[in-house]
Amino acid sequence: QVTSLPAVIPVQPEIAPDDPEPFWQELTLGDIWRCHVRTNLPMLAAGDQVRWSADPNTGFGRIESVKPRTSLISRPDRYHKLKPVAANVDILAIVFAPLPAAAPTLIDRYLVVCHHAGVKPLLVLNKADLLAQENGVDTNELLAQYAALGYESVLTSVDCPENVADSDKQEGLDELKRYIDKKLVIFAGQSGVGKSSLINALLPESAQSVNIISENSKLGQHTTTTSRLLPFNPDDLTQGGIVDTPGIREYGIWHLTPDDIISGFVELAPLAGDCQFRDCRHTHNSKGCALWQAVADGVVLQRRVENLVTLREEADTKPY
Ligand code: GDP
Ligand code: ZN
Repeated sequence: QVTSLPAVIPVQPEIAPDDPEPFWQELTLGDIWRCHVRTNLPMLAAGDQVRWSADPNTGFGRIESVKPRTSLISRPDRYHKLKPVAANVDILAIVFAPLPAAAPTLIDRYLVVCHHAGVKPLLVLNKADLLAQENGVDTNELLAQYAALGYESVLTSVDCPENVADSDKQEGLDELKRYIDKKLVIFAGQSGVGKSSLINALLPESAQSVNIISENSKLGQHTTTTSRLLPFNPDDLTQGGIVDTPGIREYGIWHLTPDDIISGFVELAPLAGDCQFRDCRHTHNSKGCALWQAVADGVVLQRRVENLVTLREEADTKPY
């Protein structure tokens, strides 16, 4: 069975001991090799590091092994099967903006995803130039709330992609670069907040030409999801980069358990054990709920408790 290469990072192919001049030294980055995948391997995802061998006679490669993953973001597909979205991601950049107004519920959702996947979150407030025009949400206050919970954030402004050369209009990019240097990063956030603009501004043109494209398509299935791995250093794929994947945009959490969700609310998790009833659902009218007591005491934010309840309900209402 031939599977297309899922934007994996190739480690050196195995050297045949009696091959005096291994042909793979001729391989150049950006060459695309279709690979058979050993059947005992897990389903691969963008960011996976694999060991592979290539057969110059057939033109096919074979993926022999997958390096143990440092993190894994998965999501259920439409057949409710858990599919890996990206492996070895170090940082999930949660991008939001003054316009369209920030959605704290979405930020909380991605924070839960980070905790579950073992990925560090970084809040990126893009379009900082529009802070004066914000409407409805106090974005600075929101950042202060997350800072109090221990989450780091960066403020950025990027101009439209066409004007990227005009660096006068860019702000915060150097700081963002310092956070993500040598790391594998994924950008998440609602449409229109500037994810594509940020990705374009962060990557040198040379890197963008090395579009390592992954198409996971199956016969009889009409959807094709394309993930791209855009390396910061096109000559060394292990020096980090950006995984651009549609899989993170509409991210369901049905596969998470109530415990998974509550541990994603760092300030609420330690309190949850103090509820009067062990299986407290933490809704507003739950008797003896330690979370709502903490809200009443002004120790935690009401909207965080509400979001926790909403996400738990979403996880409980499985579509299957
Ligand atoms: P995406 O949907 O998250 O990928 O967002 P895009 O990158 O497509 O950006 C949406 C729109 O916002 C585009 O018209 C961009 O030119 C604009 N945009 C992106 N970054 C900024 C910024 O920092 N400031 C302002 N004012 N506009 C921006
Ligand atoms: Zn409770």
